[in-house]
Amino acid sequence: MMTRPVPAPVLEIYPEYEAIIGIEVHVQLTTKSKIFCTSPHHVSKEPNTDICSICAGYPGSLPVLNEVVVDYAIRAGLATNCTISQESLFDRKHYFYPDLPKNYQITQQFKPICTKGYVPIRLSDGSTKKINLTRIHMEEDAGKNIHSGISKESFVDLNRAGTPLLEIVSEPEISNAQEAKSYLKTLRSIVQYLGICTGNMEEGAFRADTNISVRKRGATELGTRVELKNINSFKFISDAIEYELKRQIERVEDGKTIQQETRLWDSKIGATFAMRSKEEAADYRYFNDPDLPIVKVDNEWIEAVRKELPELPHAKFERFTTKEGLSAYEADILVEDLDLANYFDEAHKISTSKQIINWILRDLLGYVKENNVSLKECNVTPQKLAIIIEMLESGKINNHAAKEVFILVAQTGGEPADIVKEKGLEQIGSVDELDVIIKQIVDENPDSVAAYKQGKDRLFGFFVGQAMKKTQGKGDPKVIQTLLKKHLA
Ligand SMILES: [Zn+2]
Repeated sequence: MMTRPVPAPVLEIYPEYEAIIGIEVHVQLTTKSKIFCTSPHHVSKEPNTDICSICAGYPGSLPVLNEVVVDYAIRAGLATNCTISQESLFDRKHYFYPDLPKNYQITQQFKPICTKGYVPIRLSDGSTKKINLTRIHMEEDAGKNIHSGISKESFVDLNRAGTPLLEIVSEPEISNAQEAKSYLKTLRSIVQYLGICTGNMEEGAFRADTNISVRKRGATELGTRVELKNINSFKFISDAIEYELKRQIERVEDGKTIQQETRLWDSKIGATFAMRSKEEAADYRYFNDPDLPIVKVDNEWIEAVRKELPELPHAKFERFTTKEGLSAYEADILVEDLDLANYFDEAHKISTSKQIINWILRDLLGYVKENNVSLKECNVTPQKLAIIIEMLESGKINNHAAKEVFILVAQTGGEPADIVKEKGLEQIGSVDELDVIIKQIVDENPDSVAAYKQGKDRLFGFFVGQAMKKTQGKGDPKVIQTLLKKHLA
């Protein structure tokens, strides 16, 4: 198979430059209803059915804040070490677009609910870097414009209008594509752990806008920034940043200027292209929304939310690597997938065997991927996997049989102990039983024995194979090897 050479990161090619990257993430909240009305969101596939006079922007209709959205915002704020504002305000951000019937979006510009947090990210060398957050604010999503290529007509679907979002804004402290990817992965895990967002990037439930500029190291002035909008995978975001850094550095090297603009990523051709020039904040004519009162959050509320916070990704990683003895690589895989991390913890309650993680990463993940089932649908529950591994560790079954039991449990949902009994998979471990079998093999193969004794060491494998065959794979390999050495000496 041909593998494409991975080009060196562009900042290694131009070490005299540095990148200044800030990321705004839109997190779509999994509340039952929208942010300012009781319409459901992301339920109906039929356009314009999850709507009411408020989210459709009828004149005279008034927004009422959904309390759960505030609760989720506090969760996100506490989990990212923010200060929670006891009073925050909603503002109107004005722009005209057909999917925004009020001609303004309700957001928080001047007094957001959370400020000054940070997210610790892990770098490839194992060290940790804190990415500071400027703010987290609540806002409503817009609807969707749909352009038909066939009829040349355009349609407006307002089902998404009023969907609650949190916008999480980082300081421009991200220095390269790797850090950006690590930051986004960490942030996505956090909102998934909090149970406030599905994190599904393809469906747009977790989307990132990335602001990028470059400058010569040591320069104090910032370069002109370009925004990369709505890229829906970690890989594409990191590819797009690499591309954009190269494009900007090469323009600077050629003495050209960089336009302040929004660019999109085309993953098919692997390039960014200009979408529109970027507005300045002043163009939106922000002002406080007179339809909504001050959002008041007291200490009691904040402390109640803090008490319910789950173990967060960073803490879980620490526990897995220090207390549970997992490698950083193994812990990373578990932490990124909460279901998998919980699976490990459940299995670990029954068996503390070091083999559990190998079985999870190799056999379990291999099985669910191959058979296209989710972890929750898989018949091999953490309890059953732990029992299989305990039988293996105690020598009741050997590795070969354990794999067979695993597959049978996966296929039938049966109990591991019953399957071992029914299929007669118990290991033949007693020295007496195996001694008879080994003697037989030695007697039946005089030529091979002679050749082995004359120095054909490789024949040892042949004898082991014969013994496994005679025991139908149930012989204890360790005992077999010891006995063979004795009889072949
Ligand atoms: Zn509505």
